[in-house]
Amino acid sequence: MCVMIEKYRNIAPDGILSEIRALAGALEGRTLQHVSSTRSGGGVAEILHRMIPWTVSLGIPTTWDVIDGRQDFFEVTKSMHNALQGADVDISCCDKEMYLAHLGQNASRLNLDADVVIVHDPQPAFLIDHFLSRRKSMVWRCHIDLSRPMPPVWRFLRPAINKYAMAVFHIPHFARKDITVPKVLISPSIDPLSEKNRELHEEEITDIVEGFGIDRKRPLIVQISRFDRFKDPIGVITAFRQVRRHFDCQLALAGGSATDDPEGPAVQAEIEEVAAGDPDIFVLFQPTDLQVNALQRAADIILQKSTREGFGLTVTEAMWKGKPVIGGAAGGIPAQIIHGETGFLVNSPEGAAYRIRYLLSHPHIGVAMGGKGREHVRYNFLITRHVRDYLLLMLHVMSNESEKPIFVSGPAGKRIRRNS
Ligand code: UDP
Repeated sequence: MCVMIEKYRNIAPDGILSEIRALAGALEGRTLQHVSSTRSGGGVAEILHRMIPWTVSLGIPTTWDVIDGRQDFFEVTKSMHNALQGADVDISCCDKEMYLAHLGQNASRLNLDADVVIVHDPQPAFLIDHFLSRRKSMVWRCHIDLSRPMPPVWRFLRPAINKYAMAVFHIPHFARKDITVPKVLISPSIDPLSEKNRELHEEEITDIVEGFGIDRKRPLIVQISRFDRFKDPIGVITAFRQVRRHFDCQLALAGGSATDDPEGPAVQAEIEEVAAGDPDIFVLFQPTDLQVNALQRAADIILQKSTREGFGLTVTEAMWKGKPVIGGAAGGIPAQIIHGETGFLVNSPEGAAYRIRYLLSHPHIGVAMGGKGREHVRYNFLITRHVRDYLLLMLHVMSNESEKPIFVSGPAGKRIRRNS
């Protein structure tokens, strides 16, 4: 009996747990390696911290390497990240050379020798050039919205991606036609047993949020996100101020940065300036996982007003806590929010304000939406489904048939539909 599987009994769908057990039997002793650009901050690190103990517990030795670099290296990778998600920036030849040289130094200290190696996101993607003899066991895992990249930056990255055995995307929209290697869809996930998502007692929630000065008797709107312009924190404040003309309510904007994101402090300063002197706006820096959990559970409505988004794990976390979510119609958010059923998709601060007002006026509708959102997450976005998909991916990569196109991810048997 696998202890890890049993912990998720009665939380995750039973069918998925049986599939994990069967697949793990076929993979015992095989090795898995992840490579990413940060161990803290952002969705990739969030998932890997929870995923690695899972695969290890299934008898698959799993390691996680992180590339390192100076501040100027991460400034270039952040520009690359922004440009690939559509921001109007280019990268100079000099910066490209510096970036490639730094990555070469990383390559000389790394040993990518597991049966399957998953390289996450663009930052470490060019490592493939240093491990071409291992390319058949290397998979590129994309966590960002590649649907509208700046062409010069995409032309720089694309040849590297096309050397991998396969590329994995969150949603079909990101799986570009000009990627010629087999493409696989696997959506991200949250861990319902993590400190960030476990159940909390009401008293615990109250203690934590009152500690921030938040009044639990008045409605609370929450957005939790890295301090990043694509998450549109200023748009959130604009929407909130429009709502507050009609409703006595509060806003908590909690966020932090990641070690591979040098823009965080500047964005935080902008937010603090715009929010300054407003007693109903709480700007909270670097909350702990437990504080994130309590804020999400204390919220009446959760926002994720991104203008660009990879997937938006904060949306998944919010839906799991039974909250209605108002999200920007960007990236992976529309793959999660079923408009009008589990929340609303919006395209502007005005749209967000309109939907917030609607939900504050009809709290019973928010509660019903939250309930549907939780079931949607249970069947589609829990870590158990993600583990199952990674095991299938490993089997496929090791089958030496990785040239053949496949599909991996699918719901665990149930979808929430409109008017269901
Ligand atoms: N997060 C956090 N503290 C913060 C901001 C974000 O713990 O101050 C977490 C958030 O709860 C989520 C992850 O970081 O689990 C962000 O993932 P998402 O996919 O929403 O966005 P990304 O940062 O990867 O663009």
